[in-house]
Amino acid sequence: MDELVALCKRRGFIFQSSEIYGGLQGLYDYGPLGVELKNNIKQSWWSSMVYERDDIEGIDTAILTHPDVLKNSGHENTFTDPMIDCKKCKSRWRADEIIDNKCPKCQSTDLTDERPFNLMFKTKLGPIDDKDNFAYLRPETAQNIFINFKNILDTTSRELPFGIAQIGKAFRNEITPRNFIFRVREFEQMEMEFFVKPGEDDKWYKEWVQLRLDWWKNQGLTNNLSLLEVEQSDLAHYSKATTDIMYKFPHGTEELEGIANRTDFDLGSHTKNQSDFEIQSTVTKNTTSNSKLASLCSESKKWIIPFVIEPSAGLDRGVLAILTEAFTEEKIDSNSSRILLKLPTHLAPIKAAVIPLKKNNPDIVNKAKEVKLILQSLGLGRIILENTGNIGKSYRKHDEIGTPICITIDFNTIEKNTITFRDRDTMSQETYDINDLKDRFREILS
Ligand code: ATP
Repeated sequence: MDELVALCKRRGFIFQSSEIYGGLQGLYDYGPLGVELKNNIKQSWWSSMVYERDDIEGIDTAILTHPDVLKNSGHENTFTDPMIDCKKCKSRWRADEIIDNKCPKCQSTDLTDERPFNLMFKTKLGPIDDKDNFAYLRPETAQNIFINFKNILDTTSRELPFGIAQIGKAFRNEITPRNFIFRVREFEQMEMEFFVKPGEDDKWYKEWVQLRLDWWKNQGLTNNLSLLEVEQSDLAHYSKATTDIMYKFPHGTEELEGIANRTDFDLGSHTKNQSDFEIQSTVTKNTTSNSKLASLCSESKKWIIPFVIEPSAGLDRGVLAILTEAFTEEKIDSNSSRILLKLPTHLAPIKAAVIPLKKNNPDIVNKAKEVKLILQSLGLGRIILENTGNIGKSYRKHDEIGTPICITIDFNTIEKNTITFRDRDTMSQETYDINDLKDRFREILS
């Protein structure tokens, strides 16, 4: 983990937030390469959910959330972690971090009893400081999908089964944020709620577990994934069944994504006149909603509250898993080694670096600029002109940040119209006619 964190800082993937003021625990900022990597992961997820299927719509909703939403969803009462304080050193722990009844910091056994700690952040709304004028920062993106169910149904005329996808920030006041970007207080989720007829939920649940596992494999996670079926006694209040996709992170094997059968709990809990429907789960009694979140069943002609299957992935945990898997230290010969990120091409922050052999030669540099613009115009991602005058150093940098191809522009480019491609993983070099530039590049990136 230490090497990965150092690489992320050195090369501009991820920085501690507010670092110049000593940092804020559990908050990170993404740098020039981190934002590209994150955007590429989001793009891949969005494509697989929204563009490549015909049964999922996308939305982007507010972060500040009406208290009634999170009251009826059960979060106000149950979104808690058990917390224990050490009376000696005053440190604070999640109960599952206490081993053998000892404080992990000072080993004292003088501990408080366990008490629930609600993980939601509150903020005041408007200029008047009044205890009733507040909103929550959403602890998951899902609830805003549920409360928009009718809007989507009315505007798209969807019939079951169909899904609604969203990528966005979520906030949890974690008691002990830790392990770099694995457990943080502000993070991004990629969530999709797939609404199905009651009775078809088990089938769709199994299907989504498989689809999501395959998607992570396509992001380059081929070695360290596993599935964990959550024990009935550990299920969240809304869940009939949950499978976690686990990843072997540098600090241990932990959850990357959860796929839950949330039944009809959420739509049922946000619906008015609940007794008009055959709701199967034990919903929160709702007195404030003005809408029925139901779908008209084409066969029975009855309004039903759909069941929902939810694949919920953490983007930041995805970044950590993808970087972990890609991080490679390789011996070049008996004296030297190199670090490289073997990222899949579609996730690489920089798709190609165009490197002039001579920093101050206008012919070579102008040709390199031309090549950069030609490749950039293909719309395949960021291409950069790397005019440092030191080819070896540029190769090392681009290996470390996962750039699949370095393209060298030299005297032959000017005289013979050739360019040289260097492959990140094999370090092999091949020379092409400049007229083949676009085709060759497209081929490599696909
Ligand atoms: P955990 O048990 O690790 O706290 P969770 O079961 O509470 O996670 P969910 O509520 O299922 O997590 O959230 C869905 C996804 O959001 C998780 O699989 C994870 O990838 C991500 N996630 C949840 N909490 C955090 C956090 N504090 N920091 C980063 N990502 C998170």
